[in-house]
Amino acid sequence: MLAKREVTESNTQWAQGGIAAALSDEDEISLHLQDTLQAGDGLCNPEAAKVLVEDAPERIDELIQWGTEFDRQGTKLTFGREGAHSRNRILHAHGDSTGREILRALYAKSKTLKNISVREFEFSTDLIVEDGRVCGIHLINERGEKQQMSASAVLLATGGMGQLYRNTTNPAVATGDGVAMAFRAGAEVSDMEFIQFHPTALYLKNAPRFLLSEALRGEGAYLRNIELHRFMLKYHPMGELAPRDVVARAILHELEVSQVKDPFVYLDLTHLDPDHVKKRFPRIYATCMEFNIDITADMIPIRPAAHYAMGGVRTDLMGRCTLPGLYAAGEAAATGVHGANRLASNSLLEGLVFGARAGKTMLDELRHPPASAAKSRRAVSNGPVDTATEEVIREVQDLMWRDVGIVRTGTGLKAAIEHLNRLAPRVAHPQTRRGHEAQNLHALGLLVARSALAREESRGAHYRTDFPVHNDAKFLKHSITKADTIRFA
Ligand SMILES: Cc1cc2nc3c(=O)[nH]c(=O)nc-3n(C[C@H](O)[C@H](O)[C@H](O)COP(=O)(O)OP(=O)(O)OC[C@H]3O[C@@H](n4cnc5c(N)ncnc54)[C@H](O)[C@@H]3O)c2cc1C
Repeated sequence: MLAKREVTESNTQWAQGGIAAALSDEDEISLHLQDTLQAGDGLCNPEAAKVLVEDAPERIDELIQWGTEFDRQGTKLTFGREGAHSRNRILHAHGDSTGREILRALYAKSKTLKNISVREFEFSTDLIVEDGRVCGIHLINERGEKQQMSASAVLLATGGMGQLYRNTTNPAVATGDGVAMAFRAGAEVSDMEFIQFHPTALYLKNAPRFLLSEALRGEGAYLRNIELHRFMLKYHPMGELAPRDVVARAILHELEVSQVKDPFVYLDLTHLDPDHVKKRFPRIYATCMEFNIDITADMIPIRPAAHYAMGGVRTDLMGRCTLPGLYAAGEAAATGVHGANRLASNSLLEGLVFGARAGKTMLDELRHPPASAAKSRRAVSNGPVDTATEEVIREVQDLMWRDVGIVRTGTGLKAAIEHLNRLAPRVAHPQTRRGHEAQNLHALGLLVARSALAREESRGAHYRTDFPVHNDAKFLKHSITKADTIRFA
């Protein structure tokens, strides 16, 4: 297992709210399925969604056996509620550190297994394909040397691509490398136009866009505009618990009409029991306190930020990509479970369920011994930071935020594609890790913008003012991109 930085530098480490599974007495697997399909806005792959919710209890049991400590009352697991879930079904750990706890337990378990070795600071740059089959990877190792590694099968679990956008809840490693690598190697990618923007990220100058979990609204937090009015019921009958895309667009609209320079809206928990808030959300409480915001007494300034990629490398129900020898799981994969919009707390689960399935299937591949890839060692630079690369990344992030963000138009998308095409020579021939990230972000920007332009409708997280409604006749389908062609199927 290779990670480009410390294993703890990942989206998983930051996942706060929890992991969904129909395990409580009042819940049913069929209700979890129904909520998942509804959030996906007609575009979930129902078979994949069924696998997700049906495999969930077994995977959670396994996590518990491996030492994951989910929060309990006495001996009973406690279940929280999040937006668009019809039942309390979100398991959480240490209040709001669910991802960190799952990662801790999985990493500890992996250390007890002799057949798993973990190498940090090894940056995969490309897949090696021979005779139409993936048989290894190119990488830059810890010492900054280029190297090749052969493999009977490769699983991409490279996470999200939030770094495509100027405002994101994702950590710096989330540059979508795996999706870009798979696309370059000739694998199909799917549903790239669907990027979920989290409605509530901390908005303070010089502070990271720290995520303020949906679970806060699940516990009763209100959204208030700059005039302190609650506004969500104007936009959706579920109010603050409406689907994320609805809440993000409602906030954007409130920002636009506020006539304030550099506007924001507030998340308000001041009416909730302070002791409960501190106990339930210790990490959010502590982080906001670092910025002098006491969330039990002060309202929190927030804005939306890019959060989750529904699309990625297209896989089947066993995690297989369209390129033999290649697998994907987690946020890098497009299994179809999220459709056009992810149901909160289904993504940690997706990684577990389809990661396990892919792992089992990959064992079969061991029957095909890898062709031994020659190991070349050529020193490249691991740094220092090169300003030209940083500038081009910044330019991509700005144009994506402006023209391929929460609200899109055909004109904006075409402008974004032209702009990205002009930037192409500046990211060709990367010589550093950061250079590879720039090249990957650029490729993904084009994939997202082109898919968004092709989808002439609005659905889930993809919203176009020039096509503001669903077009089921033409677009109740997934976008699938391979090389230069996009098709809907
Ligand atoms: C702030 C935040 C809160 C969230 N809250 C929740 C939640 O409550 N519930 C939920 O279900 N989901 C949540 N999500 C989403 C969820 O955390 C992610 O979708 C999920 O953790 C992704 O897991 P992953 O294993 O696919 O990727 P990650 O956990 O991001 O891991 C990717 C790994 O791949 C490595 N990597 C990437 N590129 C390379 C490369 N080129 N070479 C080598 N290694 C590479 C990275 O270093 C990293 O170790 C949240 C996300 C964020 C950002």
